[in-house]
Amino acid sequence: MIRRVVLFTFAVLLTSLPTAAHADWRAGAAKRDITPNIEPGKVVYVAGFGNNRTATGIHDPIWARAFAISDGQRTIALVVADVIGLFYEPDIVRIRQLVAARTPGVHVIVASTHNHNSPDTMGLWGPAPLISGINPQYQQWLRQQIADAVVESVRQLRPARLRVAAITNRHLADLQGDGRIPFVKDPQLFVMQATEKETDKTIFTFVQWSDHPETLGGKNRLITADYCGALCSELEERYGGVAVYANGAIGGLLGPLDIHVPVRHPKTGQITRPRSFEQAEAIGLWVAKYAQDALQNAEPIADTSRIDLRVKQTYIPLENIRFRALAAAGIIDRPLYTNGKPDRRREVRKLPELGGVKLPVALGQALRTELNVVTFGPVQMVTVPGELYPELANGGYVRYPGADYPDAPFEPVIREHMTRKYKVIIGLGNDELGYIIPRCEWDNRAPWLNNQPSETYGEINSCGVQVARIVTETLVELLRAVPAP
Ligand SMILES: [Zn+2]
Repeated sequence: MIRRVVLFTFAVLLTSLPTAAHADWRAGAAKRDITPNIEPGKVVYVAGFGNNRTATGIHDPIWARAFAISDGQRTIALVVADVIGLFYEPDIVRIRQLVAARTPGVHVIVASTHNHNSPDTMGLWGPAPLISGINPQYQQWLRQQIADAVVESVRQLRPARLRVAAITNRHLADLQGDGRIPFVKDPQLFVMQATEKETDKTIFTFVQWSDHPETLGGKNRLITADYCGALCSELEERYGGVAVYANGAIGGLLGPLDIHVPVRHPKTGQITRPRSFEQAEAIGLWVAKYAQDALQNAEPIADTSRIDLRVKQTYIPLENIRFRALAAAGIIDRPLYTNGKPDRRREVRKLPELGGVKLPVALGQALRTELNVVTFGPVQMVTVPGELYPELANGGYVRYPGADYPDAPFEPVIREHMTRKYKVIIGLGNDELGYIIPRCEWDNRAPWLNNQPSETYGEINSCGVQVARIVTETLVELLRAVPAP
């Protein structure tokens, strides 16, 4: 009997040895159309600018694009949807449940491109400020489509080679208009490509760069994926497989509406008009071109490298009085917490910020969110749950006269704590909490930053002044736990 047990244990050890000692990368990818139906009698509220912007048609489809990679033991999937933003609760939690029911054991990161030409998925852009623009049927279908893209990308996992590269240049920075001082940007473009081990066919091309997909401005009423659509189509045409694009540190505010140089279309050579589909396409094609340039010098990720994953939930105090009114009214439809416990309490208040009306307001409870750090080979990715001001990624904080907290300590600079060659920031990763603003630059009260004549834009779309510290300190904690290379 004893002898049989020993033999059995030995056999198990033998069969498990090859995967434990050496892993081949496996990769898969898939995408799903998430374009809403535009039909007579049905209103689709378009997210991103003012209230009551309704869609009149489709210019080009919007997508949920997913890739999965596996080291033989751990599998992670990243899916990016061409929408304005998705909440950790309920959206990301629900999408993960849908995935886990069909392909368990996969860590799923869900991000949004922050597309300003997509249906309202957060509730903020309905017919009037206190009426949600979410269509519940669309939202449910959207989550299902996002989950389906992930499930298929996992089922498609096959032996693969991975290679990565990054590129930064003046033109990539010029394509990021910057709407707020200090003019700190994050022009780095990161690209990762997976090819089939046997055939060399492309499985996916993943690009991460940073710019608001709002080229068309607030008057456009056609659904489009903005520059992200042109970028992904171009890469799919060039390489085959699925192209996936994720945004990065786009706060403070990086976007095409503030570009101050002429944008030439790379194919026609013509200068494009601001707020035009030609300009959106031109930006996408330029970014695709630089991704291709970068791939010429890509370096392979060794077959033996492993995926290290760090995950932490944390709580973000909801300080913004407008967001608190929206949460109390159920427009921002997510759970509130006090000391980590659900808490739906509210009070009725007169709000000078909202025209002096009396409204129910959440008490300043917290939202629950999640931060991730993924490390493999020379690559380290962090998720940020919103629109990060690039100073928090790269440094460059400035103490301006007029700031509300002129002596505030600087938050940790995220990339200074990242330990691998490729430092990738996934914006709107697993949540969209709005702007993540350095405390020393916070400016909600006159006089305005650097004695500018008018109010500083940004704080109105931030949960509050503590978000930056909580996000950066939590990431530093996770990054410190990653073993040295
Ligand atoms: Zn934004």
